[in-house]
Amino acid sequence: MSGRTKIVATIGPASDSADVLGDLIDAGMDVVRLNLSHGGLGGHLERLARVRAVAAERGRPIAVLADLPGPKIRAGAFPEGGVALVAGAFVTLRPGDGPSDQSNITVPYPTLIDDLHVGSRVQLGDGAIAMRVTEVGEDAVVAQLETGGEANGRPGVHLSSETLRLPSPTAEDLVLAEAVAAAGVEFIAVSFVRAASDVEEVRAVVGSRAQLVAKIETTAAIDHLHEIIAASDVVMVARGDLGIDCPIEDVPHLQKRIIRHCVEAGVPVITATQMLESMITAPSPTRAEVSDVANAVFDGTDALMLSGETAIGHDPALVVRTMAAVAERAESEASYRQWANRLGRMQQLPHHERMSSIDPITAALTHAASQAAHDAGATAILCCTRSGRTARAMARFRPAARMIGLSPDPSVVRSMGLSWGVEPLEVDVYGTTDEMVWFAVETALRAALVAPGDTVLVLAGAPDPVRPRLAGAATDVLRIVRVE
Ligand code: PEP
Repeated sequence: MSGRTKIVATIGPASDSADVLGDLIDAGMDVVRLNLSHGGLGGHLERLARVRAVAAERGRPIAVLADLPGPKIRAGAFPEGGVALVAGAFVTLRPGDGPSDQSNITVPYPTLIDDLHVGSRVQLGDGAIAMRVTEVGEDAVVAQLETGGEANGRPGVHLSSETLRLPSPTAEDLVLAEAVAAAGVEFIAVSFVRAASDVEEVRAVVGSRAQLVAKIETTAAIDHLHEIIAASDVVMVARGDLGIDCPIEDVPHLQKRIIRHCVEAGVPVITATQMLESMITAPSPTRAEVSDVANAVFDGTDALMLSGETAIGHDPALVVRTMAAVAERAESEASYRQWANRLGRMQQLPHHERMSSIDPITAALTHAASQAAHDAGATAILCCTRSGRTARAMARFRPAARMIGLSPDPSVVRSMGLSWGVEPLEVDVYGTTDEMVWFAVETALRAALVAPGDTVLVLAGAPDPVRPRLAGAATDVLRIVRVE
């Protein structure tokens, strides 16, 4: 069994070819991310088709996550070659279009003057250039640079999410969400979520065609974390913008908190941004990056994400191999058993006091399976699932036994690839519970994921086509079988 923490890799110019995509899959990528902030929709749909073709060739279920841009404001273009903005200098920020230079920055945000006040902080790019407003005039704002840097192209302009009046999702996001849902992506990520209603707005467009990922990158999202987790299928700790909107020293603590709440709620969580950033140009990571990846594993993340490292980096497959090796090594030291015990204790709380929105029958049975797998020395837990829900609920317990997620729906199979430790497999459509157990074991045997002599658990929502009133909406069957 290889690593259990999943890897999401962003595809871009460095990884567009079928050859590199194949190398990324071989290196351990589980989910492809299309960053819709860069490039046109047509190019991304071509990428999606290429991923599907290469994954089919490899026989690997690879899910695709389309990341919506959200309300990003970009400054007017700086002169070719960039300009140095020097700490201590004053710059004028003016709403409107047109180019920017060393002392004038245009910002295409009509309410700039109304939304900023003396003392407001404005950041450029990845937040490295920061300024504080010193004067608010009739048609412009003056700010003093606190940290300087090189301004190139059209850098993002970050105003505090508390003052930003642009809605998220934007109208453009909703159009893109419809297009990528129709094209069949498994996941759609919503940027700059501030409340559960932002996720629900995209849900109203997408329906059940794709699972929704809430990117936690604003202070408002931290304030509404529980409602957002409850409204989302997946959560992303988007540390880039989170470290701009919140004090940067809060980021590691927020990461731990978000991951803990997500695991308790059975919502897969992705840790993102700058994980192996130096490998965009360098052949090996820094010690700090290696520690960061390992610590995200210790925090209990389901998945680790790569951005520029695989989109524009010099050796995308090497980055994925490096991340997989670091994660696998960390997993061997992680205290997953303690984690399962703690979740088990939480299970004894009254349902309304738990974070989890998981159905109480599913919660009870997955808890029992976690203990039973341990006690019976089971090598595998086969999760039969139409929606992926049983596998997600089981993965919360981070069991030592391998978890195999079996579904007759190819899109559900691919989506399970994001959940910690779940190895997704397509299974024939089953009718009865006995047939389901038989198909699951046979399919896992054929894939060489279990072997004769193994003790395995089969966990499922029982199908009962004859007496539909008895068909469990929840996970309600647990069988322990010895494989012959
Ligand atoms: C982030 O801010 O960390 C992030 C993942 O989002 P984006 O790449 O869209 O900025």
